Amino acid sequence: MRYQNTYVNLDTRLYHEQPPASLDNPRAGHFNTQVAQQLGWTTNEDLMTNWIEILGGQYVPADFKPLAMAYAGHQFGQWAGQLGDGRGLLMAQVLDNDGQPQDLHLKGAGLTPYSRMGDGRAVLRSTIREYLCGHALTQLGIPSSNALGFVVSDTRVRRERIEAGAALMRVADSHIRLGHVEWIASFAPDVLGEFTDYMIDTYYPECRDSDVPVLAFLTAVVKRTAHMIADWQLIGFAHGVMNTDNLSITGSTLDFGPFGFMERFNPAWINNHSDHTGRYAYQNQPAIGHWNLNVWLPHFMRLDGVTRETLADCLAPYEATFMQHYQQGLCRKLGLPHQRESLSLAFEWLTLLEDNLLDYTNSFRALLGLIAPEDHPYEQKLLATMTTELSSDAQQIWQDWSTRYLASIEQLPLAQAINDMQTTNPVYILRNSMAQRAITAAEQGQFEEVDRVFRLLANPYSVQDIANDLDTSAPAPDTPQVPISCSS
Ligand code: AMP
Ligand code: MG
Repeated sequence: MRYQNTYVNLDTRLYHEQPPASLDNPRAGHFNTQVAQQLGWTTNEDLMTNWIEILGGQYVPADFKPLAMAYAGHQFGQWAGQLGDGRGLLMAQVLDNDGQPQDLHLKGAGLTPYSRMGDGRAVLRSTIREYLCGHALTQLGIPSSNALGFVVSDTRVRRERIEAGAALMRVADSHIRLGHVEWIASFAPDVLGEFTDYMIDTYYPECRDSDVPVLAFLTAVVKRTAHMIADWQLIGFAHGVMNTDNLSITGSTLDFGPFGFMERFNPAWINNHSDHTGRYAYQNQPAIGHWNLNVWLPHFMRLDGVTRETLADCLAPYEATFMQHYQQGLCRKLGLPHQRESLSLAFEWLTLLEDNLLDYTNSFRALLGLIAPEDHPYEQKLLATMTTELSSDAQQIWQDWSTRYLASIEQLPLAQAINDMQTTNPVYILRNSMAQRAITAAEQGQFEEVDRVFRLLANPYSVQDIANDLDTSAPAPDTPQVPISCSS
């Protein structure tokens, strides 16, 4: 691996160097060979032979520089003060095969000075959810952390019940969160200039060419965040805990807790059990992204060339970037060009899904069975299921909508429409029930189901033999989507 451990050269107040605390008898859970290859991990014999010991915290290779990062954050809209890596360690920074920076971060690595009341551990259930979700989003084409693999162990961890301790080697382009800057502003304001230079040089080097690099950097963070959230909305992903300590400065999805993928379409869906007010409901995510950036940006006023007015200019493109990307994506999901008529069709379609509680993923995919039935037997079946779920009032609305939709599609080259739809409407997402089946088996020591779901999600846009009906079935319409607990 091409190590580039630069964080450890920053001001020592920003982190605490320490090794992980080892887990008892760590055993393989799953290993992501594709990620390992991209990192250059597979060409290193020491790393390959000892990956379980490394993830289990029993062995730290000489080139690793493990440390816990300090950060702060706003949680559910309130200033939470110092947080930091309470159960994870930045183990090493590397350049991957494409020369891109990647952080290896071990989650579940034991106590740190930032553990507060926690035990420094992660349980198997949440580790599997994070492992599969990072993989799912990455393969869906959405910027996200991913993971090299995870291990399970005999270490007992107390949550609502006693569970097995596990550890995940997370891989992300950066582990710097908006909350890092919030921590600096409160506890070490004199390092803000040095830290901003570090963020620009490491993650946004193209901004150096700009007249005021810091403003170019902030604008780029704003745009990348808007872009990521548009991707989430299009695929039906709800992060669940969009606190400023869980948002990366690179516009890449980070920190999976009570996340979820939309099943029966309900824009007001709250997937996090602890989110009593629905602050992080699916439909609020774009506004929350803006809220987070808005509390973050003013810290940079300490720096030369940054004023309230110039910061307003940095934030201004947020809405237009989101809208452009979301609306264009929505039109592509229908195979239509990005124009006003397509958008009205799209919004009528979303209303139909919402009023009839139709499955978001399957319904979009079913439209391929409408426009090109011969080539899409699987999608024809989805279409048949979908139409049986329509209320009698909705049957007429559907007839009318599909006639107008087909008329719009007929004016276009069909191959292009099909290609757009096949590459933006997945067959497989990580449904809670899928993750749960994989977890139940893993808790009995069986990891085959984790592997099967992993393989399924490796090609989410293609129908696959290893799938079964449960992978693509939505919960019955009258079962409310069960919110996921924060306990992890
Ligand atoms: P999260 O809700 O996972 O994003 O975590 C919020 C904060 O709580 C972060 O500072 C975490 O490091 C910390 N934290 C979460 N779980 C634990 C735990 N079991 N032990 C120590 N710190 C934790
Ligand atoms: Mg977090």
